[in-house]
Amino acid sequence: MINVAILGAGGLGKGMAQLLQTRPGFRLVGIADRHSYVYEPNGIAFNSLNGLESLQNHTAGVASERSVLDLMGRHGKDIQAVFMALPNLPVDFYTNTVQTIAEETPFQGVMVDALKRTIAMELLLPLNEMLAARNILYITGAGATPGFLTTVAAVAAQSFVEVLAVDIQFGVGIARWEDYKATIREDFLHLKGFDTSRVMMMSDADIQQELDARNGLLELVNMEHADDLILEMAGICPRDRVTVGGLVDTRNAKKPVSTTVTVRGKFVSGEEGVHTFTLSDASTMVDNVCGPALGFMARGVELSQRGMAGMMTSAEMMPKYAAPLSTPLNPVMPSRSAT
Ligand code: NAD
Repeated sequence: MINVAILGAGGLGKGMAQLLQTRPGFRLVGIADRHSYVYEPNGIAFNSLNGLESLQNHTAGVASERSVLDLMGRHGKDIQAVFMALPNLPVDFYTNTVQTIAEETPFQGVMVDALKRTIAMELLLPLNEMLAARNILYITGAGATPGFLTTVAAVAAQSFVEVLAVDIQFGVGIARWEDYKATIREDFLHLKGFDTSRVMMMSDADIQQELDARNGLLELVNMEHADDLILEMAGICPRDRVTVGGLVDTRNAKKPVSTTVTVRGKFVSGEEGVHTFTLSDASTMVDNVCGPALGFMARGVELSQRGMAGMMTSAEMMPKYAAPLSTPLNPVMPSRSAT
């Protein structure tokens, strides 16, 4: 039985809690939100979390202003895997949180994130050696994009001798933006006129007002998403050949457009072709972020049990692509410890 903790109890954190119920080998024992945490060694039932505004209202809720550190500090030695479902504002929040967990708590095991931005991942990668020394295997970019869709591209790339372009376009429908506050706030960073400091200053009412002005729709183009870095590190193609965009409807659970991954490349014959992968419109953000994250976590637990530690990306778990010499790659692959 793998004991799991979820850091962040919002849309994706609760989604992961629900999904874990369907995997008999995994037991949710800990969960933290901004002001509290819950730890139950015999398992936390999803029903006990569903609909709770704050974990302080849970029967086993413990109030804490350093909830992540208290949960992981007091119980980290009994936890084998962690899903990071926290906001990443400011952009180095994950880096600082992961570093503190590694340095100040007894946790050893697997951590998986659904981090989105390239710059955030670039800040996180240098933790490789420190995490390896503490026996933590950290899999980054293991959500939907990056994650599911990036690794689909990494597999699709294998048909080609050169990958010319990877285009990821996602459609997301959510009935209430408040159920995924961090996701929507971070999406604002990609809109013209918004940056981290502006978004961090905005109240929920300000966000609501901006959404109303857009009829609830966020049209995202040329996003700074770490799919580019991950595919470059995996040797698939230089990062400037990767584009990510999307359309998010914050008032309707139905997807406004289908989610697709398009990989264009050159076959060994010299001809060009395109592979396209389309997700079911019935699938939700929880299906496509938490499902793959849990799969990467499960694989990570196996690799950790075989002695692997340090930092790796989701695409490093895919078939390796040997890029042709003519592709000017500039990978920033960290050295990984595997003892
Ligand atoms: P949310 O706003 O619904 O929930 C965030 C949770 O974190 C809340 O429970 C909040 O109380 C808690 N929290 C905030 N600050 C905290 C702190 N300092 N200590 C402990 N807990 C704290 O968030 P969400 O919409 O579920 O998104 C979670 C993350 O997933 C975001 O970073 C988002 O960008 C990312 N995401 C990734 C993908 C992907 O495909 N890669 C897709 C969607 C969302």
